Amino acid sequence: MESIKELFKIGVGPSSSHTMGPQRICESIQKEVGEQATRYEVTLYGSLALTGKGHLTDYIIEKTLAPCPVSISWQIKALPAHPNGMMIVAYDKDDHELKRSVAYSIGGGSIVFENESFAKPRQYYPHQSIEAIENYLDDVGMDVYTYILQNEDDDFEDYLREVLKVMEESVERGLTTRGYLPGKLHLKRVAADLYEEAKKAKNERLLLTSFAYAVSEGNASGEKIVTAPTCGASGVLPALIYYCHRVQKMPESKILRALGIAGLFGNLIKTNATISGAEGGCQAEVGSAISMTAAAYASLLGLNLRQIEYAAEMGLEHQLGLTCDPVGGYVQIPCIERNGFGVLRAMDAAIYARELGKLRENRVSFDSVVRVMKNTGHDLNPAYRETSLGGLAKELVIDD
Ligand code: SF4
Repeated sequence: MESIKELFKIGVGPSSSHTMGPQRICESIQKEVGEQATRYEVTLYGSLALTGKGHLTDYIIEKTLAPCPVSISWQIKALPAHPNGMMIVAYDKDDHELKRSVAYSIGGGSIVFENESFAKPRQYYPHQSIEAIENYLDDVGMDVYTYILQNEDDDFEDYLREVLKVMEESVERGLTTRGYLPGKLHLKRVAADLYEEAKKAKNERLLLTSFAYAVSEGNASGEKIVTAPTCGASGVLPALIYYCHRVQKMPESKILRALGIAGLFGNLIKTNATISGAEGGCQAEVGSAISMTAAAYASLLGLNLRQIEYAAEMGLEHQLGLTCDPVGGYVQIPCIERNGFGVLRAMDAAIYARELGKLRENRVSFDSVVRVMKNTGHDLNPAYRETSLGGLAKELVIDD
C-alpha cells in the first residue's frame, strides 16, 4: 500500500478525479515543456467528457495552462485503460508539436501517464489486508497507530496536523459563507443556516450535518479541501473530526490517531477495490468515506482494532451498490446531502459495532466487503458510474 498522504490530498474541489487529477496532469506537462509551449490541445475521454463541464474540468485545465490558449474537445467514448482519460498536446510558437501525452485521472487526485503503464508507486506498507495487519499486530503486540507511524515517513504526524488544519478551516469557512453554488442548478448554500438552527435547537445531529454541508458546499464552489478519500466525499470525515475536536473537546493526539486510522482503512479500500466514482459508483466515494469515518469514530470511542474493523465494515456494507448520478454533472445533487447523511451513518456504524460486538461475532469481514464493493462496482451499469447518464441525473431537468 502507498502512503496515507496519497489518500489525504490537499487541493481544490469540486472533484478529485475531474479537477485535481487533470490539474496535476496539466502541471506535469507544463513543467516538461516549459515556456516553449504557446498553445495546447486537450481531449477529454469517457467520464471526463461526460461530467467534465459540471465538475469544472475545462475551467481548471484552462486556468492551469494559462496564459497559453487551450482548445478542448470532448469524446464520450472512454479510452480502454481507464474511464477518465485525457490527451494533451503542446505546440510551440511555430505550431510544431512539442509533446503529446495520454494520461489517466484514476481517482482521489492520483494520475498515471500512459507510458508508466500503471506502474506501482512506492509501497509503504508490508500488508495488504486488515486481516494480515491484525495478525501481525497480535504477534508483535503493537498498537495500530504505532504501526502506521512506523510505516510512514518521519514527518507523517506533521502532515496529519496540516490535514486537520485544512479540514477544520473548510468547516469554518463553510459555516460563515452564504450565497449560491456555481452552475446551472442555482442551489443556495445552506450550511450556515443549518448551523444556526442546530445551535438554537441544541440538535447535535443537525450540527454534524451542518459541518458536512459546510465542507461539501465549499468543495462544490472550488474551495480548498482535503480528499477523504475524494473531493465529492470530502465532507464526511471533517464533520466528525470537527465535532469531536472542537465541540466535544477531545485532545489533538486522539484526533490525529483517529485520522491516521481512517486513512489506513481508506488506503485498504483504495488498494483492494477503488475510491473512484467513475470506476465503482458512489459506494467507492461516499461509501469509503463513511467506512473511514466509522473507523475514526470507533477509535475515538476507545474501541479495539477488531471493533474498529467492524465499524468500518458496516460503514461500507450498507452503501454497497450506491450509484453515482450527479445531476448536470455538478458535485451538488445528490453529493452534498449524501455527505450530510454520511457522517450520521458513520457514527451509527461505530455505535453498532460497540453494542452488537458485545452480543455476537461479526460474520462479515472488512476485507470481504471491500472485495464485494469492487465486484459490485464492476457490475454497475456505466450509466451509474459518474457519467450522469442515469438515475437522478436523468430524472431531474435543469433549467438554463
Ligand atoms: S454521486 Fe457520489 S461519487 Fe458521484 S460525484 Fe457525487 S459524491 Fe462523487
